[in-house]
Amino acid sequence: MRAAIFGGPGAIGLGERPDPVIQEPTDAVVRVVLACVCGSDLWYYRGESPHAAGSIGHEFIGLVEDTGTDVTSVAAGDLVVAPFIFSDMTCPHCRNGSTISCPVGGNFGNGTIDGGQGEAVRVPQAQGTLVRVPGTGHSDQVLRSLLTLSDVMATGHHAAVSAGVQRGDVVAVVGDGAVGLCAVLAAGRLGASRIIALSRHPGRQAVAKEFGATDIIEARGDEATGAVMDLTGGIGADASLECAGTAQAIATAFAIARPGSTVGMVGVPHGQVPVPEAFFRNVGWRGGPAPARLYIPDLLDDVLAGTINPGVVLDYETDLEHVADAYSAMDERRAIKSLIRAGSQ
Ligand SMILES: [Zn+2]
Repeated sequence: MRAAIFGGPGAIGLGERPDPVIQEPTDAVVRVVLACVCGSDLWYYRGESPHAAGSIGHEFIGLVEDTGTDVTSVAAGDLVVAPFIFSDMTCPHCRNGSTISCPVGGNFGNGTIDGGQGEAVRVPQAQGTLVRVPGTGHSDQVLRSLLTLSDVMATGHHAAVSAGVQRGDVVAVVGDGAVGLCAVLAAGRLGASRIIALSRHPGRQAVAKEFGATDIIEARGDEATGAVMDLTGGIGADASLECAGTAQAIATAFAIARPGSTVGMVGVPHGQVPVPEAFFRNVGWRGGPAPARLYIPDLLDDVLAGTINPGVVLDYETDLEHVADAYSAMDERRAIKSLIRAGSQ
């Protein structure tokens, strides 16, 4: 089959991988319909985080082609959403909300295991992992939004859940990438009354507003902190969502969190939590890799009901043949997030 192959920093292209087949009774084979490029893929592309050569991509929706004998939750022909990691959903860690800790779990597109950026994927632990989408003939807009549940929307939601967003809260979101924008949408969905988005890019500001942001702050660093303090009467945000992972974003997220609050952290950290400053203001943090599989069913209902449309973040589109363009568009910040059309519904 044709699949994106990561060859090292800056080197991504279309190549060949073996056609996936059922290897274990717990497997399914899924033919990919839509995939996309993650912000974390960019860290690999830029050489800022290591990634093995080979398969890549961990966000996809597709059609089940075949299932192992232990798999009863999905069947051939089903449209499914795959969370970005596979897991059994029955072990103590999965049941405690940390699917990434599953002893039989793992990452799609890690160089060896099939990635979402390809024509098909062997999905281990398919019974626990895959979520069937009810209905048929979904619009392209719905399919795009379903794709975001694989990672980016689930991750934005995890930021909001981790920070304990409550109805009526003032929420500040640091990071205007696709995750940050989805965090804005998630905060509004959980009832935030005021959502402050930190962004200096007009296109991203527009999406943030469409997703429910009430205030936009263009400043960065200390200036951004001052602006959030001005907007909140000197108190700070009830919930601060860190969705970028850079050292400056982490520092800002903690600085704008009100004393006694929790910072929701979902950006892969490339900086340090300022422990002493947080300690003396009773600010905590929660977060980590989102247990997307736990969140997908509720978010899926909202996508199908039309109450959320996170697929808006996918503002660049190409196919597998042009996968390199999908990466460069995001690397050069021409795109918020790149969609890769791999097949049809
Ligand atoms: Zn598990």
